[in-house]
Amino acid sequence: MAFAMDGVQVFKSSNYAIWPLFCTINELPFHLKAFFMTLNALWFGMEKPNPNAFCKPFVDETIQLFRTGFKWLDKSNNVVRVSRVLFPIAIADAPARAMLLNFMQFNGSYGCHYCEHPGISVIKGDGHVRVFPITFPIPPLRDSKTTLLHAVAAINSGEKHIYGVKEFSILSLIPEFDLINGTIPDIMHGVFLGIVKHFLTIWLDSTGKPYSFMAKHLDEALRDIKLPDEILRMYRSEKYGKSWKASELRNFLLFFSPVILKSLLPNVFYRHWLYLVNCCRLLQKKSMTQEDLQHARILALAFLGQIPDLYGVEHVSYNVHLLNHIVEGVDNWGAPWAYSAFLYEDAGGNMKTQFHGSKLETKMNIEHRVERSLKAIVKFKYEKLFAGEIIAVENCKDYGQLSMLRTLFPEVPIMALTGTKNLLRQSKQFSSLLLENPHFFLTSCIRGNLILQLITKSTLVKNLKNIVEIIQEIHETDYGIIYCSSRNVYE
Ligand SMILES: [Zn+2]
Repeated sequence: MAFAMDGVQVFKSSNYAIWPLFCTINELPFHLKAFFMTLNALWFGMEKPNPNAFCKPFVDETIQLFRTGFKWLDKSNNVVRVSRVLFPIAIADAPARAMLLNFMQFNGSYGCHYCEHPGISVIKGDGHVRVFPITFPIPPLRDSKTTLLHAVAAINSGEKHIYGVKEFSILSLIPEFDLINGTIPDIMHGVFLGIVKHFLTIWLDSTGKPYSFMAKHLDEALRDIKLPDEILRMYRSEKYGKSWKASELRNFLLFFSPVILKSLLPNVFYRHWLYLVNCCRLLQKKSMTQEDLQHARILALAFLGQIPDLYGVEHVSYNVHLLNHIVEGVDNWGAPWAYSAFLYEDAGGNMKTQFHGSKLETKMNIEHRVERSLKAIVKFKYEKLFAGEIIAVENCKDYGQLSMLRTLFPEVPIMALTGTKNLLRQSKQFSSLLLENPHFFLTSCIRGNLILQLITKSTLVKNLKNIVEIIQEIHETDYGIIYCSSRNVYE
């Protein structure tokens, strides 16, 4: 299993936060992981949890699950099975990672959790920031064994830290868990919320620099661009990059910025940005070759290496440095999208919503949760919960995720109905259902009971009045559905 931890602020006006610890099953296909996510521990308070105390019950159970496993009934053949569970992967952003590992924070001395780069304190504005430019020789990479030795040295010496390590982390007791390589650098926080947001701020908030441009020009460029169907979230222009969510920043980096920035940035800055774009495009590929990985390494180094000359050394932030470790992490764990914090982002947000509704589920037994997930998979796989057919309804918000139905119910017939989509979009959406050799049935829209009438649009109130009048005039006693040409254009 993979486990993830991050803080979610509950109230805007206070510092109360919840810290959920989620687990996902690594062996599940990616699109099912979130569906079978388990909540294993929860902290609530104004202060961050003490990691060693908070994680102890969780770590104890990982030890028990590794040593003795647990029994569960495989209903497919009525066999009682024993499963042992490993927890090789931890996912957290930089502050949570420092907390879990008992390291210095990333903005402190020796704040990188993957290498012994000490960081350099430089002046930025009215204060100082810690930056991580390329140094020679390259700082040695950390490993679990040396980290434990540093923890011993820190405790024995009474120093605040030794090479950034403050004390033991209880996570080192998790069986087969590598404290350094197992705590994966996350692309969502490091690159999308980190680097992309940082550079948007540099471009928009600086004046008189060769790379600065006005927010209204970015806004105009974004408004002019046509979004592909796959990108559902619309850009909110009011605060530009500062309020964008991780998925918006990712889409900006990968899809929009190569087009938009060509006219906004001088060529040398634009070409430099493309190093990051192309590096992340390689990291987002479904499968990566060794050549892709080598190419990504070079692009990450080129991006980092040119920042001091182009923008100033104060902008070689920890997240820029982290990009190199994200690329190196591919060697151990594969492409970063497969284990990024995107999986847990929605779950954390949902918990925040549930918190207000006092419906928060608090049972925190890993064994129970794993057993329930495995049973659920088997149940879905072998029991026919649906005797007839599943109908995929048009305009379903999660239409793109309906492929899960095919995976869970491989033998159940699926019928997909649509009333307004054109053929191209139909074929795209049908392919998301993973149908095998489907039959297509098309009917003409020219039928006796269909009338086409064009009415000029006016103000919102008048449009609504017109619709009400038409309904009252023609369909007073009928039931029906009002279709809209797109989800974004309606009254
Ligand atoms: Zn490092």
